[in-house]
Amino acid sequence: MYKFLSLSLLFVWMILGSTASLAKEEPKITTTKINDNFWVLHGGNGLGANVGMSIGEDGIVLIDSMNVGKGKLLIEEIRKISDKPIKYVINTHDHRDHRGGNEDFVALGATIIYPDYLKHTGYQGASRDIQFKDKMSFSANGEVFTLYHVKSHTWNDVIVHMKNNNAVFTGDNHATSWGPNIGVMGYQGHRIVFDLVLALANEDTLVVPGHKALADLNHIKAFDAKTKEWFQHVLTLSKAGMSSEEIVNHEKTVALFTWFHGGEFPDWLKPDRQLARVQTTILADASNTYEMSTNQLQRYLGSYLLSDGSKVTVFADDTGAFAQKDQTFMANLLIKSPSKFDFNGWDEKEHLTFELNKQGQVKKLSFNVNGVEQFTAVKQ
Ligand SMILES: [Zn+2]
Repeated sequence: MYKFLSLSLLFVWMILGSTASLAKEEPKITTTKINDNFWVLHGGNGLGANVGMSIGEDGIVLIDSMNVGKGKLLIEEIRKISDKPIKYVINTHDHRDHRGGNEDFVALGATIIYPDYLKHTGYQGASRDIQFKDKMSFSANGEVFTLYHVKSHTWNDVIVHMKNNNAVFTGDNHATSWGPNIGVMGYQGHRIVFDLVLALANEDTLVVPGHKALADLNHIKAFDAKTKEWFQHVLTLSKAGMSSEEIVNHEKTVALFTWFHGGEFPDWLKPDRQLARVQTTILADASNTYEMSTNQLQRYLGSYLLSDGSKVTVFADDTGAFAQKDQTFMANLLIKSPSKFDFNGWDEKEHLTFELNKQGQVKKLSFNVNGVEQFTAVKQ
């Protein structure tokens, strides 16, 4: 009897549950009109990122294309505002919620714009694109768009500046509802982005983050200061011997999370996610790195051949040193000693060990995870 009753209750619950989900409204794209020629379309609830839209005599230029499967919905919303041809879609990075609609726009004749850095990252790109190195400017609709490639939230981040509308798009490096910005290069990556964004913005600048509410100079200044505070706080406690779990529960950690999430500690920020942010911060600590001159570093750069014929590439630019293996890893390297380079932010103590001969020439590297050697590769 008890069993029957509970099954009946379960059945009732299922009916009510499914009715409730049927009644639930589909998420809708909302819009903010900045002026006749410049709009922001807001996703959220699975629809994807904020989208910038410039409309004018040259057609439509978009910044981001929302989530996979949501491009057509975005096009419907755009068509309520303008019937001009959609010419370009700039991607602020390669996460699905920012570039998922790309092919729906390519089908309408648009060209997708992103940095040529995707060759390092395994991202396949769009079927019609323009790829740029470091920086690109173009004029359309009486506006000057300047795109800057940065590496922080992802390897393929783009900061977009619209000069005449005085607007800056920060992608997912900044938000009014999320943070701190740790990304693929820790504080160093954050610093590069925020030095740029703060140089582009003034008191009247409209700052468009990747998600949710629009922001201004005051917010990016505060977000920058809080991110700096976050790194200092977590690293200070970590160096004092506190465990990551203890740091997560520290009063100031909770206060910082609350600030980043717009003043309310979010339900979805579960302990494992909080812990991951603390651990990534500790693993991204670049303060105890070995000072190596450009000349010294030069000896490590190049291709290393594995016995199966695949390759590891070690390369450098003015932002740091990097290691890449096709479809396996791409990492910023924190140089700990002449023979040990750590993967910035990686959580299983991933690192490269280099073997040098008596003349100081680099002969070989090995890739290690949690102290276990995964493979060795010989310098070419
Ligand atoms: Zn993202």
